[in-house]
Amino acid sequence: MSTITNHMPTAELQALDAAHHLHPFSTNESLADEGVRVITRAKGVYLTDSEGHEILDGMAGLWCVNIGYGRDELADAAARQMRELPYYNTFFKTTHTPAIALAAKLAELAPGDLNHVFFAGSGSEANDTNIRLVRTYWAEKGQPDKNIIISRKNAYHGSSVGSASLGGMAGMHAQGGIPIPNIHHINQPNWWAEGGDMSPEEFGLARARELEEAIQELGEDRVAAFIAEPVQGAGGVIIAPDTYWPEIQRICDKYDILLIADEVICGFGRTGNWFGSQTVGIKPHIMTIAKGLSSGYAPIGGSIVCDEVARVISATEFNHGYTYSGHPVAAAVALENLRILEEENVVDHVRNVVAPYMKKKWDALVEHPLVGEAKIAGLMGSIALTPEKASRAKFASDPGTIGYICREHCFKNNLIMRHVDDRLVISPPLVITPAEIDEMFVRIQKSLDDALVEINEKGLMKPAS
Ligand code: PMP
Repeated sequence: MSTITNHMPTAELQALDAAHHLHPFSTNESLADEGVRVITRAKGVYLTDSEGHEILDGMAGLWCVNIGYGRDELADAAARQMRELPYYNTFFKTTHTPAIALAAKLAELAPGDLNHVFFAGSGSEANDTNIRLVRTYWAEKGQPDKNIIISRKNAYHGSSVGSASLGGMAGMHAQGGIPIPNIHHINQPNWWAEGGDMSPEEFGLARARELEEAIQELGEDRVAAFIAEPVQGAGGVIIAPDTYWPEIQRICDKYDILLIADEVICGFGRTGNWFGSQTVGIKPHIMTIAKGLSSGYAPIGGSIVCDEVARVISATEFNHGYTYSGHPVAAAVALENLRILEEENVVDHVRNVVAPYMKKKWDALVEHPLVGEAKIAGLMGSIALTPEKASRAKFASDPGTIGYICREHCFKNNLIMRHVDDRLVISPPLVITPAEIDEMFVRIQKSLDDALVEINEKGLMKPAS
């Protein structure tokens, strides 16, 4: 076959894609009929597609391009490393400088005594590591039955068999024979959808106490760990009420349960601190990292582990690892990304400049007839769409119908936002400027207005009975 390039007509690229490429989380048959959008290049916060559209990427790719697109320094770091040492493993009494330097840098950046890194190629792999790590930890301490991991419904922890079992996505559990045994799910702290008549504060406490009830029911000597995202991302950017996390921390401490913070989205500045755990005020024993670690420029993830867990695990042979654990090119790219985040004060830019700027505008979206709740932590935000704000009503249409209509209008207006059922979520590159935020809000406002016209025309502005 001749070389495939960006200069080919879009229709040809789409036809080849439809013929040979199976897309994740997609109905490939209808996608093939519709034709995918072909992204050809990107710079800063803007993507360009094969038709020449300039699209504002309100999702930073998949919540990962924290430093924005088109940074030559990362390309140079990758090329340098490929020339010097493109690959070597870290299994058999060997290491290399990119893995050493990145582990040391992460130990410096991570809070408390999170000083040890087990590398993976992605967030899913890192959470698979965590399952084996916490179970091995308790087995080494003479408690092999302390092996149940508690997670939350509507959590997202990855798509491999282990990590999808940790996750609480019903649609994922319905396929492929998961969850694996000894994973237990409690309810999520989503006040808008599930809070009923409780105040957010009462609801936050009640949902946290489900962890205590689960531990009491299952037995303290059976529960190894609790895993959660500081802010649920793929579940719809669910920000827990203020009462939630302090209670979770109290319960984990009281019952000697390892706390795993899945920082795959929240890490590396997304919430206005280096890690989401700092934003919500928790002290995890393990943090899962990926995405913003390399700003998505190279696939890399890992688990940052506290001194005590590392000490126990290190006393035995941990029979676990990936060919690409600590991959030198990915590690070199990640190091360069961290250098940029630090030297350009990107986390301060989020906390002090763009997060407050964006929050004001984001909160004001509740004025729109479609928007019931607007929540944002740093630069990850969500709005709940509703036909009736006062009662926090859901739509009569199938869940996701309205969210999808809104998302399609965003696409038409050259803005990428994502919908999770009838919530819209946003997570732009952290380097976005106030002027770019202004432009983003022009497109958000227009997309919501256009969507409302269509929703009214179709008679869909109706609450579920
Ligand atoms: N954990 C969280 C919180 C995530 O958001 C994701 C990806 N969206 C993952 C884990 C899985 O990461 P990956 O897709 O790199 O395997």
